[in-house]
Amino acid sequence: MTRTRTTCPYCGVGCGVEARVEGGALIAVAGDEAHPANRGRLCVKGAALAESQHHQPLATQAAIDGRATSWRSAVHEAARRFGKVIAQDGPDAVAFYLSGQLLTEDYYVANKLMKGFIGSGNVDTNSRLCMASAVAAHKRAFGEDVVPVSYDDLEAAELIVLVGSNTAWAHPVIYQRIAAARAARGTKVVVIDPRRTATCDIADLHLPLRPGSDVALFNYLLTWLHDQGHTDQGFVTAHTQGAENTLHSARADVAKAAEHTGLSEATLEAFCELFAARRRTVTLFSQGVNQSDQGTDKANAIINCHLLTGRIGIAGAGPFSMTGQPNAMGGREVGGLATQLAAHMDFGAADRDRVQRFWQAPAVAYGPGLKAVDLFDAMAAGTIKAVWIMGTNPAVSLPDSGRIAQALERCATVIVSDCAIDTDTARYADVFLPALGWGEKDGTVTNSERVISRQRALRPATGTAQADWATICEFARALGFRRGFNFESPAEIFREHAALSAFENDGDRQFDLGPLAALSDDEYDALPPTRWPLNGPAFPEQRYSTASGRAQLVPVTQQPLASEAADTFILNSGRLRDQWHTMTRTGHTPRLFAHTGRPSIAL
Ligand code: SF4
Repeated sequence: MTRTRTTCPYCGVGCGVEARVEGGALIAVAGDEAHPANRGRLCVKGAALAESQHHQPLATQAAIDGRATSWRSAVHEAARRFGKVIAQDGPDAVAFYLSGQLLTEDYYVANKLMKGFIGSGNVDTNSRLCMASAVAAHKRAFGEDVVPVSYDDLEAAELIVLVGSNTAWAHPVIYQRIAAARAARGTKVVVIDPRRTATCDIADLHLPLRPGSDVALFNYLLTWLHDQGHTDQGFVTAHTQGAENTLHSARADVAKAAEHTGLSEATLEAFCELFAARRRTVTLFSQGVNQSDQGTDKANAIINCHLLTGRIGIAGAGPFSMTGQPNAMGGREVGGLATQLAAHMDFGAADRDRVQRFWQAPAVAYGPGLKAVDLFDAMAAGTIKAVWIMGTNPAVSLPDSGRIAQALERCATVIVSDCAIDTDTARYADVFLPALGWGEKDGTVTNSERVISRQRALRPATGTAQADWATICEFARALGFRRGFNFESPAEIFREHAALSAFENDGDRQFDLGPLAALSDDEYDALPPTRWPLNGPAFPEQRYSTASGRAQLVPVTQQPLASEAADTFILNSGRLRDQWHTMTRTGHTPRLFAHTGRPSIAL
C-alpha cells in the first residue's frame, strides 16, 4: 500500500487528502493532518472519494462526430476545424470555455494559447459564475484580485458574519472550523441569508433579508458605524480614499433600510451593535453574494465596512470571498477570465507588451473577450463558430438552459474534453476528447486562501485519456504554434507560470511566485502547501496595489431586482450538501444520496 498526499477535487476549501492505494486502486482516503486548510478534517464528499472513484464511469474514448477514433486524430481534427474558422472569420470567432476543475498548469497553457498565439481574449470559465464579481470588487477596492485573509483568521476572529453562504453544506470544513472556534472561544456568528439554512444552527443572529438587498443592508451598516463614531479615522486617512463619497451615496436611515431589506429595525440595530463591538470581524461571503444580481456591488458594500473601521490587515479581520471550486483561484492567477490577460495583468499597453515579450507571442489579444453568458449568446447569434469546452457542463450549469442548448446546437464546431462520460454537454460535441480525472492527473490547485497545493496522480490513466495540458499543447502544435507549447511535464509549465508572475514585477503585483520558478522536478513533486505572497501577508504595511497605494471605498447603491419589478415569485438556488455541481462526478455514488435523495423546492 502506498500513501500519497493530494488535494480534494471538489470545493474551494481545498482540503488536503491522504490517499491510500493498493494494487493500483484507491482503497481509502483520510484528511491530511499536515494540510493548513483542513488539518485532518474532511466532509462527506471528500470522505467518499474512494467510493466515488470506484463508481464513476470515466471517459476513455476520443470521438469525431460520434465515431470512435484515436486521441491524436481527434486533437488534430479539432485543430483543423478551429484553424478553418480562424482563417475565415478571424480569431474572435473562436473561444475556450474553461473550468475551475482544471489544474493551474492546464489553465495556463489554454490561456497562453488563446490570448498570446491565437490572438483573442475569448477565454472564460465556469468560475465566472462563482467568483468573477469578487475579482472585480477586489480590483476596485485593492487594485488587485487578492483575498486579504486566510482560514486562520476564522480562529482569531471575535465575530464571523456569513453572507449568502450556506457554509454548513457548501464549504463544510470551513463550517467545522467556525463551529470549533465558537465552541472554544465564544466567537459570535451572524448568518445573513433569506433562508434559514443548516448554517443557522450555530448563528447567534440570523438576518433573513429580502433576496438581493445586501447592498442596502451593508450601506446602512456603513452609515450607522460612521454616525455612531466607529470610523477608524487614522486608518481611513492613512490607507484609504473615497470614504466621503461612499458615505454620501450609502446614506440611509433605519426606516429605509428596514423597507429595503424586510428586516425589523431591532434586528438591524442588533447586527450593527454586534459588528461595532468586535474589531476582529471576518465577513465571509460566497455564492449568495458572488453569484447574483449586483454581485460586485454587494462585495464592495461589504469591503467598504471593513475599510471604514480598519477591520483588515490584522489577525482575525477582513472581507473573505470563498471560491466555489477547487481551482477557481488558480484560474484567476493565470488570467483565465475574459477580463484578464495573464498573471494579474490586464490589457493595458504596458501589460500587453510585457506579456508579449515574455511569451514571445505572435498575437497578444487586444482586449477583453466574451464573458460566459455573452459567449453563449454569441454562439446562439452565430458569431462564435467554434468553441472548446473543458471540464464543465454548461448545458446544465449556465442559466437559461434552453438558450444554452440552442447556442450549442447553433455553433458549428463544439469540442468537449471531460473526464466524465456522457455529460449533458458532451452530447453536443462534434469532437470529444477524454481527459484525465482526479487521481490520474498531476499538477497544482489554489484554494480560497491563496494556498497552492499539489494534486498528485494516484494511478495510471484510463484508456486513451490525456492530461488537459498535454491535449492543449498538441492542439496548439497542430495549429502551427510549435514554439511555446513543447512542455513535457506539469512541472515545466508551473516554472514558466511562476516566472511570468515575477517578470518585471517590482512589487507592483502581489501575485509573485518568482522563487518557485527555480523548483527542480523533484522539488515540484514534493511541494508542500504554499501560500502567496511567499514572503509574508498580503498588502504588507497596508500598501495596496492601486496607483496611490491606498485601498478604495467604492460608492454603491441598492438596485431593484428584475424579478421585483415583475412582482412575481423570487426564485433562489441552493446546493445539495453531498453532491458536487451537476453531479457528473458524485451522482453515481449511493452513499452521497443518503442525505438528500431527490430534488426539492422550499416555499
Ligand atoms: Fe473537499 Fe470541500 Fe469537503 Fe474539503 S470541504 S473535503 S475541499 S468538498
